[in-house]
Amino acid sequence: MIEEIKQAGQRALEEIENAQNAEQVEQLRVKYLGRKGIFKDLMGRMAGLSADEKPLAGKLANETRQAVEQKLKAKAAEFAASQPKPVKEVFDITIPGQRPAFGRLHPITRATNELVEIFARLGFEVVYGPEMETAFHNFDALNIPDEHPARDDFDTFFIKDDILLRSHTSPVQVRTMLERKPPLRVVAPGKVFRRDTPDASHYPVFHQIEGLAVDENITLADLKDVLDKAMKTFFGPDTRTRMRPSFFPFTEPSAEVDISCTFCRGKGCPACQGKGWTELLGAGMVDPNVFKAVGIDSEKYTGFAFGMGIDRAAMYRFGITDIRLLFDNDLRLLNQL
Ligand SMILES: [Zn+2]
Repeated sequence: MIEEIKQAGQRALEEIENAQNAEQVEQLRVKYLGRKGIFKDLMGRMAGLSADEKPLAGKLANETRQAVEQKLKAKAAEFAASQPKPVKEVFDITIPGQRPAFGRLHPITRATNELVEIFARLGFEVVYGPEMETAFHNFDALNIPDEHPARDDFDTFFIKDDILLRSHTSPVQVRTMLERKPPLRVVAPGKVFRRDTPDASHYPVFHQIEGLAVDENITLADLKDVLDKAMKTFFGPDTRTRMRPSFFPFTEPSAEVDISCTFCRGKGCPACQGKGWTELLGAGMVDPNVFKAVGIDSEKYTGFAFGMGIDRAAMYRFGITDIRLLFDNDLRLLNQL
């Protein structure tokens, strides 16, 4: 029996030493130390030994078993160490994240979107026209014939004799009325161009939003109401509007529309030259000559039109005093707005 134990131990150690991989080590563990393993069998048979032999054999069996167990562990560890380690994913939640650089809309884009939305709520749909226009759409159809002195006020960049960069958004009125029949309620935002030298309030390219409503029985009161509501929504509920008589070739009667100064709320300050009012847009009732040019019966229909400088509106709204700042693209300014 003692010999048998010694041999089993010897054989086990050899076989474990020669194992080629972790699976073989595991198989050997089962073979020698498992529930139906060789050592279990030896222990079981020890019951039949004499009282002299039993302690000796028991001790030897235990020691051998422990040696085999250690050898198994050592061999298993060897194979585990030689395995390629799985790459540990490193995720340190304490490292500050990389903040993506958020962009934002330019003040002019914001003002445009807001104005369009305000007029949409008042029942106006948005239409667009080309920035390059014909002299007919930009001037003639708007009651500004060749040699009319008002052409000077709208002097722009000419591409050819009769092709130019539009000097206002009013040609979109003409295009809309040529394409569609009343009732019409549209706003047309977009870029416009003038031969202006840049200063605090002029820039050769700027933005306007044009408004046009044509239907039966449209009156100046409708114009005043629409503008008053729109300006209160855009500049704040305490904003007041007023109309001053004016002249535009394409409206009759015409008016300059002022709003109460957004800086001093009408009290008078340097921004409004102490007047408490600032000029914001031109408006009026569509001139019958314009209706005639686009083939709308001016006996049946009336309409109002307005043109508002979006840049100026954005400046009043955001407290910018120089229009050039809007086009410098200086992030220090834009990030404040
Ligand atoms: Zn003021």
